Amino acid sequence: MFFCPQQVFDVLLAGHGAGGKDKSLFPGIELMPSPLGNEIRDKHGDNHRENSTSEEKEKKTFHLWREHNPNRCRPPAGIGEGIFHDLFDHRVEFLFTWGVMIIVLRPHTPKAAVDEVVAEVEKLGYEPSPIFGATQTVIAAIGDERTHQNLESLTALPQVESVLRVQKRYKLASRESHPADTVVDVDGVKIGGGHFALMAGPCSVESEEQLLSTARAVKAAGATILRGGAYKPRTSPYEFQGLGKEGLRLLDLARKETGLKIITEVLSERDVEHVAAAADILQIGARNAQNFQLLIECAKSGKPVLLKRGMSEKIEEWLLGAEYILAHGNPNVLLCERGIRTFETYTRNTLDLAAVAVAKKESHLPVIVDPSQGCGRADLVLALCCGAVALKADGLLVEVHPNPAEAMSDGQQQVDFSSFQELAKMIRPFLEVTGRAG
Ligand code: PEP
Ligand code: MN
Repeated sequence: MFFCPQQVFDVLLAGHGAGGKDKSLFPGIELMPSPLGNEIRDKHGDNHRENSTSEEKEKKTFHLWREHNPNRCRPPAGIGEGIFHDLFDHRVEFLFTWGVMIIVLRPHTPKAAVDEVVAEVEKLGYEPSPIFGATQTVIAAIGDERTHQNLESLTALPQVESVLRVQKRYKLASRESHPADTVVDVDGVKIGGGHFALMAGPCSVESEEQLLSTARAVKAAGATILRGGAYKPRTSPYEFQGLGKEGLRLLDLARKETGLKIITEVLSERDVEHVAAAADILQIGARNAQNFQLLIECAKSGKPVLLKRGMSEKIEEWLLGAEYILAHGNPNVLLCERGIRTFETYTRNTLDLAAVAVAKKESHLPVIVDPSQGCGRADLVLALCCGAVALKADGLLVEVHPNPAEAMSDGQQQVDFSSFQELAKMIRPFLEVTGRAG
């Protein structure tokens, strides 16, 4: 449920939520008891609340309120300063999105048992509205799920059949909270909202010669961002684990020579600081997609974060991973589909292009496609890139190696320089028809 700005203002000012409950929606926001009653005056003494007749003026009132109360307008616990003020500026409605749950009772539940659930719902801080049917009763419940537990625990009561959530679990990542596409600015290279980015480079950084020759080749073909793993998450401990800090040094060298931005994976919380110092984008790999402490550390680094989808992650879980980063104050998140585990054996993973379309509908965040991990076969990479671009993916992350047959990781899926050049040419018409020529 969205409140109109006037209602939000009433809540901020008067300190009570819907239904006349005397409670703040956000425990972190101190409410301003106005010395003038429910009104606010600017420096010239104009009463903006009473004068507010349009949304524009309402918004101005919010800004004035914040200006006059910098110490009281604070983000609640768990919401970063940056994102809070961004939301305050552009999406004040979001702050007052209340949780709506539907509690479905078993058929023929007697009135006394319905009343018991109603009382329990109230106890948990929600406002219950029972709807009595001929055989079955449902209870709609409205409350703030951030300050109170959600109501799923009510299924512990024998008369409760199920509890349904009406709203999405991710909020900051959702299109509802931010209808326009987010444009992530990677030190001058824009991604999203009509800006397409070609990211390419080896699976692993192996040597100076290997990385620099690849950087030059992908740049000549039109890439703007160089990929390369310095820390590699390998299934076996006996396989090449990456060059570590030496790999980061080589990536920095490649950036200096070519001007390409750098994306590289960060494997652990311990490495965030020094990887963030070398990278322009932090890559969180499929194996770490739900390593929430790592997501939080990456969020705090302030660097743009590319979040791969976990190999058995549902789209909702992937978006909730992004939500962690957003909720910790970092709005620069790129979602990356890289294939999921299925029963299929002709490909290493099943690139889920439908998930790309879903993510673009559900979220305002840019969506990148990694066809290389996505299928594990160099001969399919080109076709998958064309498909991804046709679906309006905001970028591609492609593995390119000077000599894939000698690669120290993922040789089977890396394309060589001439194939990459061909690929960059082949996606052009798809960029044009989707309005991203350039
Ligand atoms: C990679 O990009 O080389 C990689 C290891 O990716 P993922 O985390 O998607 O497997
Ligand atoms: Mn790889």
